[in-house]
Amino acid sequence: MVTSCSKETTPGQPLVVILLGAPGSGKGTQAVELAKMFEIAHISTGDLFRENIKKETELGKKAKAFIEKGQLVPDELVFDMLFDRLSRPDCQKGYILDGFPRTKAQAKKLQEKLKGHAKILVFNLVVSDEEVIRRLSGRLTCKVCGKVFHKEFNPPKEENTCDACASELYQRPDDTQAVILERLAVYYKQTKPVEAYYRKVSFSTISMGQKDPKRSALSSKQKLKKQNNFS
Ligand SMILES: [Zn+2]
Repeated sequence: MVTSCSKETTPGQPLVVILLGAPGSGKGTQAVELAKMFEIAHISTGDLFRENIKKETELGKKAKAFIEKGQLVPDELVFDMLFDRLSRPDCQKGYILDGFPRTKAQAKKLQEKLKGHAKILVFNLVVSDEEVIRRLSGRLTCKVCGKVFHKEFNPPKEENTCDACASELYQRPDDTQAVILERLAVYYKQTKPVEAYYRKVSFSTISMGQKDPKRSALSSKQKLKKQNNFS
């Protein structure tokens, strides 16, 4: 579904792309494609969390406890990490948010910050629960460089070994079956309402499936070009 763009925006403003969808719906893959196409920064809150956890910052330590249980990281923690990141120079032209906002409260807070200062586009990735479980339960992550593989769809060349750095792969604590179901439950309760919020404030909202990320990103951009004169 494509609705018209907000009337509050003017040319020359940064482009902010928001990606919505269940865990495992392919937000990361889409974000990479869209960031390339629009030539804007790709800001993944998951990466921000992992960076803070790896560096053992105070924020990272706090976030870790929530992530491992499949729970959402509390808003204040997310805002502190995110808004700091968005103030860096590479975000001036625009950015794509991957993993944020995850609650209606977060969406409202972001909206307060952006209102009148950015063009906002919302992409909604639609994937069934069965597919989410299949994708996430097969995911393997490199302990050292963070590269992600999949037992079925994207296996490493050598079993349990990273193609990029030859380190050991592991299943992230939040990719086990019990935690995936918990993440889905959290998604329906807290994140799904964000979709309705954006429809109400009438930004461009594009729903798409996940068969071919490159092609769907491209066709979305073409649709937008026609409607909104994006270059
Ligand atoms: Zn690696």
